[in-house]
Amino acid sequence: MKTVNKSYKYRIYPNKEQEDILLFNMGCARFVFNHVKAMYEIYIKQAANYGFKPLYANRKLFNNILKDLKKYYPFLKKANSTVLQKSYDNLIFAYRMVGKAGHGWVKFKSRKNPLQSFRTLNIKIIDGKLKLPKIKTLMPMRYSRKVLGDILTATITRNNSNQYFVSINVKNSPVKGLKKTGQKIGIDLGLKDLATFSNGFKTGKIHLKEVDQKIRRQQQILSKKVENGCNYVKAKTKLNRLYQKKKNIINDFLHKKTTQIVQGYDEIYVGNVNNQLGLKNKYLAKTTVDQHWFEFKRQLKYKSEWYRKYFGVVDEKYTSKTCSNCGYVTTSLDLNIRQWNCPSCNTLHDRDVNAACNILTVGTTGLAFSKTNKKLVD
Ligand SMILES: [Zn+2]
Repeated sequence: MKTVNKSYKYRIYPNKEQEDILLFNMGCARFVFNHVKAMYEIYIKQAANYGFKPLYANRKLFNNILKDLKKYYPFLKKANSTVLQKSYDNLIFAYRMVGKAGHGWVKFKSRKNPLQSFRTLNIKIIDGKLKLPKIKTLMPMRYSRKVLGDILTATITRNNSNQYFVSINVKNSPVKGLKKTGQKIGIDLGLKDLATFSNGFKTGKIHLKEVDQKIRRQQQILSKKVENGCNYVKAKTKLNRLYQKKKNIINDFLHKKTTQIVQGYDEIYVGNVNNQLGLKNKYLAKTTVDQHWFEFKRQLKYKSEWYRKYFGVVDEKYTSKTCSNCGYVTTSLDLNIRQWNCPSCNTLHDRDVNAACNILTVGTTGLAFSKTNKKLVD
């Protein structure tokens, strides 16, 4: 059976005592991250002064710094030791990313940031509850899906609505291939409907009007409060909950649609939306819709891999303007034109369905993957 690496995320509900331990470990993780970073940077400066090449950020070096820190700050000994190690691992990772990018720098972690986290090993799930090292009691969690595979690490996070979550990374998680349906589909991503299928089905767009309105109202309420006063904090928490709610609406929508697609079709082709944005309206500002498209494609891609379906991205350059029936290419097609009549074969096209049909044609004939071949239909 095919296996994959994946992660599971669950909400957890620590009691007061457990929450204190979580917060303490988050604090220690942050403390180690910041102190190891500060000491390493002093070392780099000194190396420059003395004219020798400093060692790269590595585990051995950072572990020695941690040992010293524990001497000066004995409270660190009370923390879960893997949390501290994983914290400097994160630091090493951050330095590597900055090194790879060739610019930027590693930032200190602020205690004022409501988003706090730590990573650990050796967690267990017992009777649907979470067992963390150094916490004797089990922590209730919303254990919606069973964890399958070998647990690697777990990350505990607190969001800005003061809710706690655990993300569990596993390897060797088995996936069953979905039943083959023999169906193929082309998908056009758009503004009016998030996705239009070559068979004419339209997903509609994500309904965010209501939550956006609530967010705007709450922002106004917040702006009238005295900063950092009691009512300010309350209003801010409420606002953060609304942001979270919005995220959930988007996530639910995208997951539902992408799962339905991989269940229904063996071959899935999606237009390259970066091109689409530029072509459909060059004045269109980068919107959140971009992010939805990006996430939609990301989910389709990995779900296709999991369930052994085929996923292809198609160059969208001419897909809107080409007649899917006869291949005639119209010269201009304004963004607000939703329907058009092909002058060559007289077919009435829904703009998006036509584009989706072309995406399917290009995808299945393979022409889209050769950049030199600009012709869509032979
Ligand atoms: Zn035509």
